[in-house]
Amino acid sequence: MLNGKTAIVTGSTSGIGLAIAGSLAEAGANIVLNGIEPAEQVDPVVQELQEKWGVRVLFDGADMTNPTQIEAMVVGAERAFGSVDIVVNNAGIQYVAPVDEFPIAKWNAIIAINMSSAFHTTRAALPGMKKRGWGRIVNLASAHGLVASPYKSAYVTAKHGVVGLTKTVALEVAEMGITCNAICPGYVRTPLVEKQIPATAEARGISEDEVIRDVMLAAQPTKKFVGTAELGALTVFLCSDAARSLTGAALPVDGGWTAH
Ligand code: NAD
Repeated sequence: MLNGKTAIVTGSTSGIGLAIAGSLAEAGANIVLNGIEPAEQVDPVVQELQEKWGVRVLFDGADMTNPTQIEAMVVGAERAFGSVDIVVNNAGIQYVAPVDEFPIAKWNAIIAINMSSAFHTTRAALPGMKKRGWGRIVNLASAHGLVASPYKSAYVTAKHGVVGLTKTVALEVAEMGITCNAICPGYVRTPLVEKQIPATAEARGISEDEVIRDVMLAAQPTKKFVGTAELGALTVFLCSDAARSLTGAALPVDGGWTAH
């Protein structure tokens, strides 16, 4: 379905991004993997995706806090594969603390990685998409792009910002065969969430089991973590021609959380 297309998936060495990269590769797209891990560590993943799905896969370790490296990643992918047709802005980090104790460096890093990087990739990839008259931009926002939770000021700010960017880009390119959407997952049990469990326990003064039951899945009516494969399947659908009129949307995949 996506044969001959190229997808950049930021933050795709782990968790949701890795699952999305796998789903796009399964659909036939060449993939640029990205993340902060050393290339040697990612090499087995590159090999596995290539062998399993018969597509070409590159790793680019561009740091999502660095606009120059982000632009170079897009230019490098265009040079290697001939085009960048799909951009999945997925890289993200989390930090949990009361707003008046929130470390400034953490605020700056979350705004850069979770929000501004999506602007920089989009800015660099759009000219090629416009020229070819086809493109798909998928931004991994969060249920926290639609509603807030305490102690996550930078994350909630960044994710609301990503939803705003999504709508703006969608309007600007609506007549050009390019769509831009945000996926807003609830809790997905990835390394990012694993790290939050002890941090939230400390911030709230409760046990780790209580964090899972009373904080995370309390908000999710299905009482189940969202699966990474569900997000991969939705991304592939958003990249299909069947989704050509679906643009500017913020799609909750949150077990009913934001229906409250
Ligand atoms: P994860 O921690 O498993 O993976 C994060 C990825 O981002 C890794 O590949 C890492 O290398 C990369 N990364 C981190 N800093 C980077 C940087 N400076 N430059 C380049 N890459 C960097 O996280 P995840 O849970 O898979 O989350 C992926 C996205 O989904 C994030 O944007 C997150 O906010 C969002 N999300 C996650 C959940 C959840 O419950 N896990 C829910 C909603 C939204």
